[in-house]
Amino acid sequence: MLHTISVAASAEPAASQYPLTAKRIYIPPMAYGSARAFAAAFRAIGLDAEPTPPSDHRTRELGAKYTSGDECYPAKVTVGDFMRLLEKPDTDPARVALFMPTAEGPCRFGQYAPYLRHILDTSGYRSVEILSPTSRNAYQGLGSLSKPFVRTGWRALLCADLLEKMQLICRPYEVQRGDTEAIYEESLGDLCRTLESTPVEPGVQLQSLRDCMVRGRDRFRKLSLNRRPLPVIGIVGEIFCRLNTFSNENLVRCLEGYGAEAWVSDIVEWIWYTNSEHFRKLELAGRIWTTEALGAWIRKRVQKHDERVLVAPFAEDFKGREEPDIYEILECARPYLPREGAFGEMVLNVGKVVYLARKGAAGVIDISPFTCMNGIVCEAIYPRISRDLGGLPIRNFYFDGTQSDLDRDLGVYMELARSYQKRSSRS
Ligand code: SF4
Repeated sequence: MLHTISVAASAEPAASQYPLTAKRIYIPPMAYGSARAFAAAFRAIGLDAEPTPPSDHRTRELGAKYTSGDECYPAKVTVGDFMRLLEKPDTDPARVALFMPTAEGPCRFGQYAPYLRHILDTSGYRSVEILSPTSRNAYQGLGSLSKPFVRTGWRALLCADLLEKMQLICRPYEVQRGDTEAIYEESLGDLCRTLESTPVEPGVQLQSLRDCMVRGRDRFRKLSLNRRPLPVIGIVGEIFCRLNTFSNENLVRCLEGYGAEAWVSDIVEWIWYTNSEHFRKLELAGRIWTTEALGAWIRKRVQKHDERVLVAPFAEDFKGREEPDIYEILECARPYLPREGAFGEMVLNVGKVVYLARKGAAGVIDISPFTCMNGIVCEAIYPRISRDLGGLPIRNFYFDGTQSDLDRDLGVYMELARSYQKRSSRS
């Protein structure tokens, strides 16, 4: 077991005990539902948290003002959202903590948190705190709350992914426009309330979340749907840009407008990947028989158990849309980009394309920020994968906030996907 302390939603730990108690934590909405659920996970341990307000044109203005132009687009969007929050007259900077995780690795993501600190310090916001868990220290900054938070946060992300998947599976087929989104919102609200109002004792919390997922599933099942064979388009790419609808100009909605169903790679996939990397590195360092490895192994077992319990109610609904085990994705990637020689999302994207094709996808779209090296590496490999998969249409879409022809390009792309689907159904 990871931890068994019970902190009710309303419990107020002494400010001296948890420095963040006097602050409100703001979560950048990488994915809308996940950010809301993750904020609720903080509230479940007695800390105040909410997602940053929805992005708009001011996000881009401030993002451009406070960055130099060399940064990745997700950095520009999150900085823009944070600065927009801080410029509001009713925001007290001394009460603000900005959530900005960081990680080791070859890409620019590891620079986001230090860069944000620099911007805040040089813009008169020294009192604003940054909550920056690393892939190494997890949430140690939360003190004794870190263990219950890690498990609650994991479950929150898992449940948010499940609701999002249900939404994607239903929305293209809805009879009454807007019904699916209404059900999704209701279920997401239910998830956030369940997280906040349930004690973080692991067994009690898991049972409550499972009940909540069953309620959500049953709401979706009551929707009036016109199930017909629509082409399924896989969506891979850089995690922020593919999930943040503001950054990708709501590409999935646009795709649905062309009569497609989208299968979007979720957040949990990345968490499983970082876990698997942890084991690989321990093995490489000859440290697989250490207490650190044992801890990682126990954590993985616990997470797998949570996943099994929470996914089980959706077995029927996800038939044909099952998410693969992370090692299956990595094996799919192996002929093109072996994990031992490459790192990060590029490996996942390449492997997922192959997996999605095996599951009958009519095409795959890779969403990446302009100049993102993951997207660039993948774009170089996709033609070979496409050839090996009988001409599967794979297309990169890059975003930097200046997209103008998205609708037209998606229309052209969908023609290719439909003709691929016809060809493959004949063979
Ligand atoms: S994955 Fe791409 S966009 Fe994201 S931080 Fe790394 S380089 Fe930037």
